[in-house]
Amino acid sequence: MHGIVTATRQDEPEREPVVIGRSEHNVSRKKISKNALKVLYRLNEAGYESYLVGGGVRDILLEKNPKDFDISTDASPEQVKALFKNCRLIGRRFRLAHVVFGREIIEVATFRAAHTTGDGGVTGETGRIVRDNVYGGTLADDAFRRDFTVNGLYYDISDFSVIDFFDGVDDLHNGLLRFIGPAKERVIEDPVRALRAARFAAKLNFSLEDDVLQAISEEHHRLADIPPARMFEEALKLFQSGYGKASFAWLRDLDLLSYLLPLTDARLKSGDTYADKLTELALVNTDRRIKQDMPVTPAFIYAVMLWPDVAERAAKYEKDEGMPPVPALHKAADDVIPQQLAATSLPKRFSIPMREIWTLQPRLRKTRGKRAMQLIGNPRFRAAYDFLLLRCEAGESDLAPLCATWEKLQQHPEAQAAIESARKAPRPNRRKRAPRKRTPD
Ligand code: ATP
Ligand code: MG
Repeated sequence: MHGIVTATRQDEPEREPVVIGRSEHNVSRKKISKNALKVLYRLNEAGYESYLVGGGVRDILLEKNPKDFDISTDASPEQVKALFKNCRLIGRRFRLAHVVFGREIIEVATFRAAHTTGDGGVTGETGRIVRDNVYGGTLADDAFRRDFTVNGLYYDISDFSVIDFFDGVDDLHNGLLRFIGPAKERVIEDPVRALRAARFAAKLNFSLEDDVLQAISEEHHRLADIPPARMFEEALKLFQSGYGKASFAWLRDLDLLSYLLPLTDARLKSGDTYADKLTELALVNTDRRIKQDMPVTPAFIYAVMLWPDVAERAAKYEKDEGMPPVPALHKAADDVIPQQLAATSLPKRFSIPMREIWTLQPRLRKTRGKRAMQLIGNPRFRAAYDFLLLRCEAGESDLAPLCATWEKLQQHPEAQAAIESARKAPRPNRRKRAPRKRTPD
């Protein structure tokens, strides 16, 4: 083990970490991805400290498969970049190195020093950390900056020990989510930690310590100030990591849903049973698809979450202004989408297909002839049909005969041909997307 300095924070006594030797824990290199090991070893061989940290260590200790691997080091982002040609530096608020191996990205974070003022570290007027880029910290400093005790465990590649500053291993065994340091302060520094609490409680099936519950209930209003782009990233992690239903329930319990889905939250609070059922079915569906390694998209989830509002408004435009169904839906979407965008962003590549799912709903009412077969060939048909099924199951039982007809139509040989040819057809309007630019947060 490298020279570990005892942990210090202004108001905290010094702390010696517990070091758990290789023979006393179950974190083995077999469970760590080859790429993560490569990064750990190369940093170490270049004379830097390097540790696996966060979900990688936590999930292996819990006998689960980690979703990704995060590494912590005393090398600066620039020094990391110099070691790996497949490395890019990202983030402004929190600068990080990404080492890219095809689809796998290993995130490497540099130890930060334990202060929040000065050039690279800034705490805004509200006590929120708006920038944290002062390097030169120790492992202990790094540990103190992390959110929960179970996320602050380190696996040291130099001797294969697990390092625990805050009794995180005990909390793991007791199924308890506890903040490192004073809970209230941690939520004020970064209100997104409240959403992270909901996510980990759901994913790990843990309970929240009383201090965590209290800090969230007192300070969650601060989530209103988080930029919509960051809120969207968190929404994806909450709803598309395989524990969407449980995460949603936690968000409702903790009264955090309004920051992510204000319209949906208002409906659920008003006791709308259709919205309740529809959202639950969609989340169950998404969780099942993830378990089966099937693709999921925020276009579908957002289409569901906003549908009750969009449908209600569209119906009003049809009735009051005599608009045909598709334009009425577009107009309703124009009203509703901006309200959602004030909470979380929703990139065009998702909002465009979301609209298509909506506008295909009235088109699905026509099941006759060649049109029907053409519709089956529409690249968005499957999503729109799944959406129709959900609506039916959520209470629009008059749609049942329509669902049955479409099920039959899809068995038709002509339908198969339409799907096949649509799959092969070039998509003329598809621009080649520029490499994804990470929105500065
Ligand atoms: P998973 O990857 O399974 O979702 P994780 O714990 O690895 O969970 P990440 O978002 O990948 O979560 O972050 C990695 C680690 O970085 C966390 O375990 C935690 O130690 C630290 N971390 C991430 N975000 C924050 C935050 N907002 N505040 C404090 N620490 C954080
Ligand atoms: Mg992670």
